[in-house]
Amino acid sequence: MFDIEKVRADFPVLDQQLYGKPLVYLDNAATTQKPQCVIDAISHYYEADNANVHRGVHTLSERATAGYEGARKIIAGFFNARCEREVIFTRGATEAINLVASSWGGANVRAGDEVLITHMEHHSNIVPWQMLCEHVGATLKVVPINAQGELIMEAFEELLSERTRLVGVVHMSNALGTINPISTIIEKAHAVGAKVLVDGAQAAAHVAVDVQALDVDFYVTSAHKMYGPTGIGVLIAKESILKTMPPYQGGGDMIRVVTFDKTEFNDLPYKFEAGTPHISGAIGFGRAIEYIQSIGFDAIEKREKELLAYATAKAEVFDGLRQIGTAREKACVLSFVLDGVHPHDLGTILDREAVAIRAGHHCAMPVMDFFKVPATARASFSLYNTEAEVDALFAALKKAQEIFA
Ligand code: PMP
Repeated sequence: MFDIEKVRADFPVLDQQLYGKPLVYLDNAATTQKPQCVIDAISHYYEADNANVHRGVHTLSERATAGYEGARKIIAGFFNARCEREVIFTRGATEAINLVASSWGGANVRAGDEVLITHMEHHSNIVPWQMLCEHVGATLKVVPINAQGELIMEAFEELLSERTRLVGVVHMSNALGTINPISTIIEKAHAVGAKVLVDGAQAAAHVAVDVQALDVDFYVTSAHKMYGPTGIGVLIAKESILKTMPPYQGGGDMIRVVTFDKTEFNDLPYKFEAGTPHISGAIGFGRAIEYIQSIGFDAIEKREKELLAYATAKAEVFDGLRQIGTAREKACVLSFVLDGVHPHDLGTILDREAVAIRAGHHCAMPVMDFFKVPATARASFSLYNTEAEVDALFAALKKAQEIFA
């Protein structure tokens, strides 16, 4: 049974007042709050086990290594990776995409080839491909979207060809909430011999992901949007592909033997983890995943669907509010503009009502261009949000409207 009071009590930050009003945190797409168990796991590591990993023979180093590698095992299980060698720790989704663009892209994308992304990508899944294409003389192609903020799948199929080396697609859009049909996209991309990278930065906390069932080549995400710490994320990739990829960065941990003549690289996954890793981050990430598992995606998806439906119904009848992103398949993001109030002003007024939302281009400027808005206000929900908080959002919007009337 999903017990909202118990869930909220797991997140200490939620229990506070701003400007004399209870905090309403609706900026979960930017980063989620952290449950006490994650905070404790990180503190415990520093209080009891802190040491460097993989190198030491002493007890603390063994404990640190067990914590770090234990987290990898939890993550592999969560995403149903074939084995732990398929889980590469990175600083986050952005670094994971850069790793693939640089290492796999550098080795496999040539002049005349195409990389196909979509109009709703986060800048993190645009710029690395743009840089790669410029570097090697390849072409970046873009799948268009419709007025609801959905991919136009017929156009996707037309753009796909034997020149396409890679398709990069966001699983769930941070700017629109759209959930993309990644299974179909992967199948069609594979049919022309292209690899697929799915940006799961938003999706991974909200829907179950099975990388084997999807047959996805590269899946990336960040811990901090999954109730875990900042500065850590993963690239999950097929071992058969990772084996063929050159290292991304050089340094400690990614080598087996170094001489001035030649370096022999380490096995997977260490070949892609140069330098001392974010040990406490990985441990916190592992604990965050266990927290998600303890609640379960059935309960999470049900709860978040209810909240989105509740908020959407209110948005639809709110005078002067235009929703940006009304896809049929959508999750827990309400992006909108309000007549006569700039999103940034809205964000500031809402903050005085203790309602935290995001205002801006959400690192998805092409989406803003498509909808012809400079920015949107975005309320994004998580499993700990309540209907009362949605009410507080709309009461605050009313107030903002009155101020600007
Ligand atoms: N992709 C999407 C869809 C995102 O929402 C974000 C974060 N806003 C990123 C990529 C980048 O994630 P990070 O900054 O954690 O690397």
